[in-house]
Amino acid sequence: MVANARGEHERWMAYAIREAEQALRRKEVPIGAIIVHNSRIIGRGYNQTETLQDPTAHAEMIAITAASTHLGTRRLEECALYVTLEPCAMCAGAIVLARVPTLVFGAYDPKAGACGTLFNIVQDDRLNHCVELVGGVAAEQCGALLTNFFSGVRSKTVGKPGYDTRSNGEDE
Ligand SMILES: [Zn+2]
Repeated sequence: MVANARGEHERWMAYAIREAEQALRRKEVPIGAIIVHNSRIIGRGYNQTETLQDPTAHAEMIAITAASTHLGTRRLEECALYVTLEPCAMCAGAIVLARVPTLVFGAYDPKAGACGTLFNIVQDDRLNHCVELVGGVAAEQCGALLTNFFSGVRSKTVGKPGYDTRSNGEDE
């Protein structure tokens, strides 16, 4: 089921980027995710932590919930999750719990990435599920959304520069 061609991944990532743009329109940190099953998008999500005042409202979590509802199962077998930024520890954990076979992400997250950067939760063989991982797909475009967002809000109160997008500036 898994098409490894970079072009195929880039094609799907474009839809995740659209979700990130939805976040941007709502003044949220622009991160978007989609879940693909049988060449169809069955779950979408964008970061809504500010709108919902919910620290768990990451793009991946929303997309996983939507896809699980769509399929009527808590196991997202034969699905691929595309997200514009390397997932954090929470989302990486959810991806493992959902048994997502394939994860494709855009920009690497040096401050919170848990899929190879700070940790590699999705490929830790102590856990009972290992995810096929492709990072850096359309990374420049995904990263530019974040860079532009943070350069725009730098003088305001929300967020701060860099890709540390999951904390919304509340940590550290
Ligand atoms: Zn997350």
